[in-house]
Amino acid sequence: MDSKLLQDLAHKHGTPLVVVDHDAIRQNYEIFKKHLPRVQVYYALKANPAPEILKTLYRAGAGFDVASMPEFMLVYDNIRDLPAAEQQDFIWDKIIYANPIKPKQTLLALDQYKPLVVFDNPVELEKIQQYAPHAGLVLRLQVPNTGSMVELSSKFGCDPGDAADLISQADRLGLVVEGISFHVGSQCTNFENFVQALNIAAAVMQEANSRGHEMESIDIGGGFPAPYDEHVRPFAQLARKINHEIDRLFPEDLHILAEPGRFLVATAAACVARVIGLGVRNGKKCYYIDDSVYHTFSGVVLDHCQYRLRAFKRGETEICTVFGQTCDGLDTISHAEELPDLALDDLVYAENIGAYSTASSTWFNGFPPAQMLHINL
Ligand SMILES: *Cc1c(COP(=O)(O)O)cnc(C)c1O
Repeated sequence: MDSKLLQDLAHKHGTPLVVVDHDAIRQNYEIFKKHLPRVQVYYALKANPAPEILKTLYRAGAGFDVASMPEFMLVYDNIRDLPAAEQQDFIWDKIIYANPIKPKQTLLALDQYKPLVVFDNPVELEKIQQYAPHAGLVLRLQVPNTGSMVELSSKFGCDPGDAADLISQADRLGLVVEGISFHVGSQCTNFENFVQALNIAAAVMQEANSRGHEMESIDIGGGFPAPYDEHVRPFAQLARKINHEIDRLFPEDLHILAEPGRFLVATAAACVARVIGLGVRNGKKCYYIDDSVYHTFSGVVLDHCQYRLRAFKRGETEICTVFGQTCDGLDTISHAEELPDLALDDLVYAENIGAYSTASSTWFNGFPPAQMLHINL
């Protein structure tokens, strides 16, 4: 994002400010579709649930991966609000409920929509039969998450060796497992994770087929890495690998779904904050800014993500610490930023902060979340 524009917007609207560029979101979506043309996108709303983003991606052609009843209703209400001409015929083909664990009340509420829901264990299967018998099912597999920034395989996914039995069990309960899904871990820069996962899924499908269970779809999950730094290899390289495996392993008419979150929104937002306090601790310069890890910088703690802070001001830089505005010691944004000599009221900014940032913002210590400004809507 243009730094002059960011600075102007911060002067006009005040800080802390998050600027979301919808041209960048549309561009990311186009890149994804260009390189993975067979894949239908279900944007993982948890990365950034701003309704404006949801609408932009819906208009571009995306469906949605939701993980709670409120997320489900957020999609429902916002799609319904769009002019009729923009609505596609089968709204419910546009949502997958991808959280493998669902409260009973959620299943009861979901059932009327005949949703597609994900499961990974026998207890969940029985819950679905009892409370949402009209749901279509997707079985999530445990796959390697090696080297991904956020690992998910210790919490979700059934052992691939148990998968065919679970599919048979669903069958006995009168439920239909329509597809297989997996998640290679978020910000997956080890592309082999995708290759292995696709091969594991293909083996499970073959086993299920041999028992007479036809699958309609495979959902290759999220994990597509955002280009936070130069070490992340180009998306085109990952897409080539995925396309090669998909063409090799699966029939041509199999539906391929994906649930990208971070990839679509991370690079589409930047934030601007103001220096509200200065200090020197143990000989090192410290800046206190009007945002925090309880707010826009939540990803530092919850997403294992480090954002580069920059200043608009020029000058020789030195290593310094940047703290958030709250009274908690945990609220340390970085111990190693390179910034020029800043004064009170100077501005700093961070790019690539569109995913897993504002999404986890709180009102801790009474500080409200940063104002969010949408441009190029
Ligand atoms: C978080 C999540 C996603 C999105 O992951 P990204 O790494 O942001 O692409 C997709 N699917 C499921 C089930 C998730 O939990």
